[in-house]
Amino acid sequence: MGDKITIGGDGVLKVSDNPVIPFIEGDGTGVDIWPAARTVLDAAAAKHGRTIEWVEVLAGEKAFNETGDWLPQDTIEKFTEYLIGIKGPLTTPVGGGFRSLNVSIRQIMDLYVCLRPVRWFTNVPSPVKNPELVDMVIFRENTEDIYAGLEVEAMSPEAAKIRELLHDAMGWNIAPDSGIGIKPVSKSGSQRLQRAALNYAVKRNRKRVHWVHKGNIMKFTEGAFRGWGYELVREEFSDVAVGWDDCGGDAGDRILVQDTIADIALQQVLTRPAEFDVIATMNLNGDYLSDALAAQVGGIGIAPGANINYVTGHGVFEATHGTAPKYAGQDKVNPSSVLLSGVLMFEHLGWDAAAADIINAVEATIGDKIVTYDFARLMEGATEVKCSEFASAIVDRL
Ligand code: NAP
Repeated sequence: MGDKITIGGDGVLKVSDNPVIPFIEGDGTGVDIWPAARTVLDAAAAKHGRTIEWVEVLAGEKAFNETGDWLPQDTIEKFTEYLIGIKGPLTTPVGGGFRSLNVSIRQIMDLYVCLRPVRWFTNVPSPVKNPELVDMVIFRENTEDIYAGLEVEAMSPEAAKIRELLHDAMGWNIAPDSGIGIKPVSKSGSQRLQRAALNYAVKRNRKRVHWVHKGNIMKFTEGAFRGWGYELVREEFSDVAVGWDDCGGDAGDRILVQDTIADIALQQVLTRPAEFDVIATMNLNGDYLSDALAAQVGGIGIAPGANINYVTGHGVFEATHGTAPKYAGQDKVNPSSVLLSGVLMFEHLGWDAAAADIINAVEATIGDKIVTYDFARLMEGATEVKCSEFASAIVDRL
């Protein structure tokens, strides 16, 4: 039996060479991509004298068919007990009482950071001229903002009640046929996200951190996010980081922290990608930004992600695409998203050498133009292989 991953009082994970890691295979193409990714992860771990003891936990259709429950309590308990887990894509049940299983896992475990690194791999087809300039890490707030699910439907009694309350208390007039959503953004919620981004930048030797916000319009939510971010830099990170206004843009050896309005940020990550490094932003902005950026480097088939609570140590690493049901069971789709999420997990565990080996092997495989259908259709002279064959080709190059 392997060992539990634990977290020390210093917030550092304690990981043996034989950790237990729960996984959710995932619905649809999960049956294809998870085994492929796991083969590569196991081979890279073994190369460094490590063995992962994988424990399957259920969610989604497989869970529903076997237990009648879309997200069994046992799954949350195992993820909680073993701290770190990984998952394939999950079907969103229609009318199952869930907004989405992914959102439920994030909320139940208070995984407040959605971590999405975006970088280009040599030879990956891209719609931009210089995809190699894209090397950004997005920290998207995962628990607040308009995504918190505080919404009432137009014409409902709840909407009438809120309109009345706001009219009486604030003198606000909201059209009677309005749906209403609440956008909470707290100082504690903002700063724990920003703290995680700054700590990551320090640890990974990154040079810039951007707060991306729409604070010119939404002053007390997004504007406050910006202000709290700079306050945090001054109060907790002044030895290693400095805000633009406090240094006139010349941070010397320290990390330069600046902010950009969300709309112009979406332009500039495209036109001046080299100027962006670590980005921390609120939930909705982060959702748009991470998919827009993923498109620049080859799309969602290759975009990794993780949801993390750096205080409790909990992390669930995940493929960022959906279940692609039309391809399920065909051994066809690209396993890179879940594989690179595993790489992110290795880095999070401190297994940097094994993580780097996989990245190099993925790069070498795509460099040899051995790719799955999604890249093959965009590349000249590519050899199209199955999902499992792509994994084998990566293992051969480890
Ligand atoms: P999707 O499953 O992400 O598929 C959309 C398209 O993306 C596919 O048709 C395919 O494009 C491409 N794609 C997806 N996975 C790929 C892979 N591994 N390799 C290469 N290309 C890939 O989105 P959807 O069809 O909107 O959603 C299907 C189900 O997934 C829904 O139930 C949805 O709720 C769920 N979902 C889950 C997650 C998650 O678990 N994180 C995220 C999003 C959606 P081509 O057709 O061009 O080949």
